[in-house]
Amino acid sequence: MEESSLENRSIVGQHALTKRMLSNILKVSQEAKAAKRLNPQLIDATVGMLNRESGQLFSYRTVSESLNRLNDNEMFSYSPANGTAEFRSGVIDWVFGKNKEQITKAFTISVIPTTGGSGAISNAVYNFNDFGQKILLPNHYWTPYENIAEEANLGVETFLMFDEEMHFNRQEFRRQALALAGRQHRLFVILNDPCNNPTGLSLSKDDWKDVIDVLNQIARQDIPVILLHDLAYIDYHSAGFDGARGIFETYLDMDERILTIIAFSGSKTFSLYGFRIGAQVGMSKSKSVMEDFCRVGDYSVRARFSSVSRSGMSVIGSIFTNPDKKAAFQAELLEAREILGKRVQLFFECATKYQLTTLPYSGGFFIGVPTENPNIFEDLVKDGVYVITMPGLIRVAISSVPLTDIDRMVQIIKKNA
Ligand code: PLP
Repeated sequence: MEESSLENRSIVGQHALTKRMLSNILKVSQEAKAAKRLNPQLIDATVGMLNRESGQLFSYRTVSESLNRLNDNEMFSYSPANGTAEFRSGVIDWVFGKNKEQITKAFTISVIPTTGGSGAISNAVYNFNDFGQKILLPNHYWTPYENIAEEANLGVETFLMFDEEMHFNRQEFRRQALALAGRQHRLFVILNDPCNNPTGLSLSKDDWKDVIDVLNQIARQDIPVILLHDLAYIDYHSAGFDGARGIFETYLDMDERILTIIAFSGSKTFSLYGFRIGAQVGMSKSKSVMEDFCRVGDYSVRARFSSVSRSGMSVIGSIFTNPDKKAAFQAELLEAREILGKRVQLFFECATKYQLTTLPYSGGFFIGVPTENPNIFEDLVKDGVYVITMPGLIRVAISSVPLTDIDRMVQIIKKNA
């Protein structure tokens, strides 16, 4: 027997000894749900799903009807590991929208279906880093990124997300990206944009230009650069479908050595949370980078989850390829954004009324509220409000709070923040 296995007397492997879920959004959310069943007056602002004013999940009629019409093959059989043609080309059309032609001319693009956006992120983090390295994140981030990194034997390094004027901190991004890339001869950065979870921030086009300038500068030193662009909430941007996609124009200036992986989430866009469907959209101007992307990406799909939900893929494929369904779905998305928009407007009116400081919001499911109270979670629970707390921040899931609860919720947050 190897010496190392003799030394480890734990039931779990050496690499898993330190695994512990410290901040589990889903667990807190379950607790909030259970508490609300006992006391309906409680406000549950933890859930990263869109709910109607009635409290029921916002599901899309176009999606439900398409699901009901699937034949047995479309519903039950294995999905092809690299996706149906409808799904693959549909994802590219959807993600890039009006910029699709320019983008597809400039880049080689490949779509790999994954188990939600999470599967896309986890496969990318695993394949494009050396064990022991660090990935770069802003200091406010969706906490599962950290677990995904740990699972891949990686650490995280952060840069300050906001400058003094509460804009994206371009200087800090530049400084930290250059430093990390110089130290470990690789840069893997995750940006969740637009409609950042947990802050609600969206980078401007100029921010993106600056980000790409930094990435280019690093790539030109012959350092591998991977941008993981997580756009889970792109379809809930207050700027609308086209407005949210203007940022892709800045992609055109990307150095050819860079690999960009867009993590697309069927959970958020189609309200198909439980289906576990999403995609990695890999893109680079370099064909050899893309050969590597496809080789390791296809391998990891097979090795980690084999293939994804066939019914999820079939429904998305059918909406993407049928112009009438696509138009009907777009109209429903508009309705979803209106629901969010009304809540957000009321939240900010109340924030002004009660002088609550918030982070800048431009769309998505969450509003960020800064706090210096170390016991904020417990204090809010005592007053009947459940939120997700992160260092220095409360994340309010406005996606799940009805209009009738917003004034009271803002008052309670103001009292405790
Ligand atoms: N990225 C962010 C920022 C998210 O908030 C989520 C879900 O909450 C995801 C990605 C992944 O979602 P899913 O795996 O359900 O597609």
